Amino acid sequence: MRSDSLFKEALEVLPGGVSSPVRRFEPYPFFAKKGEGCMLYDIDGNRYIDYCLAYGPLILGHAPEKVISAVCEQIKKGSTYGTPTKAEVELAKLVIERVPAAEMIRFVNSGTEATMAAIRLARAFTGKDKIIKFEGAYHGAHDYVLVKPGSGATAAPDSPGIPTDTIKNTISAPFNNEEAVASIIEDDDNIAAIIVEPIMANIGCIEPEDGYLKFLRKITSENGILLIFDEVITGFRIAPGGAQEYYNIAADLVTYGKIIGGGFPMGALAGSREIMEHISPAGDVYQAGTFNGNPVSVTAGITTLKGLTEDIYKELNKKGEMIRNGMKDILEDNSLEFYIAGLSSMFQVYFTERRVKDYTSAKTADLEMFKRYFHGLLKGGVFVPPSQFECCFISAAHRKEDLDMTLEVMEESIKKAIK
Ligand code: PMP
Repeated sequence: MRSDSLFKEALEVLPGGVSSPVRRFEPYPFFAKKGEGCMLYDIDGNRYIDYCLAYGPLILGHAPEKVISAVCEQIKKGSTYGTPTKAEVELAKLVIERVPAAEMIRFVNSGTEATMAAIRLARAFTGKDKIIKFEGAYHGAHDYVLVKPGSGATAAPDSPGIPTDTIKNTISAPFNNEEAVASIIEDDDNIAAIIVEPIMANIGCIEPEDGYLKFLRKITSENGILLIFDEVITGFRIAPGGAQEYYNIAADLVTYGKIIGGGFPMGALAGSREIMEHISPAGDVYQAGTFNGNPVSVTAGITTLKGLTEDIYKELNKKGEMIRNGMKDILEDNSLEFYIAGLSSMFQVYFTERRVKDYTSAKTADLEMFKRYFHGLLKGGVFVPPSQFECCFISAAHRKEDLDMTLEVMEESIKKAIK
């Protein structure tokens, strides 16, 4: 069966034909058959160099041998136990070793669960109700944070089904704007936490301006507000210790997902002992999950973190530079207005003359141009996330020849996309 007819069947049984909204694109998404290294294969016989990488987890590429064999060994011994395992303690130690401000960690099943638990914990710890999040930031699909979110939800700022009573405790602020946050905090002494993606990766890829995260650290510390870094994307990607290490800032709580599960479902929240010991059963802030600390995901996480050597990070940075510089050259040669964003192994292009620094400037990008660019890439055998408001990722499995080929396809697709 081919993707087009399978999609028709899928539409009958899956809302919108997919299990998560961003996967849907026109006229129909391709259905994956297998992944290998940096390549993704579909059921129609096509092969793509993959820069979506399942939206971030696959930093070692698809089906890395060591991870898969460790996981297979684990599965033979059982897939879940409902009791603690030694592996959870090992992964906890590996994370704590790498992450500056982490002394304890709770494993959950997704990034969504991680931010939900972190926000509840921050509210309990501070005794306050409200949170500040940034316009265009995505922290998962739960009620606290679906206010001006990014990712697949940019088209639906506030989802129906979320009580206004919940939303009234979530205040949105523009990213990279100190005055906006300062004035919210000045007017309101009921703010428990600021939750921030240190690099916004759900409206493309937007870096914090110099000093912005330091400003957030300072104003939260001075006002009894917790600073939550949502590192579901940046964690273990831009540095072993994520954005906390990269920008040299200690957050109060950090949330993880994606890479920490090595390609299997997992999330986590980490922080100081003082805060984390409020989580049940050490404390009274309830958090629980049948699959928390699942041994399969934990095994994949351990093997992945161990595989992320210093050399791999160096290589990933170089590959990122190569793609970003190559794209700049192509776009300049074609006299296009553009903004290339990203760092390390993250990148995105915006077809706009604006410098993209927040939600408002990201939305000035020419989305029709992006669509044509995306379809040109797909035709040429390069798969990037199908939305302007996602970030592209490079893995350790991408080789120089894959990147060269990608730049060729990018050049062709950009030439064709110009109207
Ligand atoms: N936070 C961020 C920064 C994310 O990018 C995502 C997912 N893209 C989430 C939270 C939610 O993670 P999950 O999809 O695993 O629930």
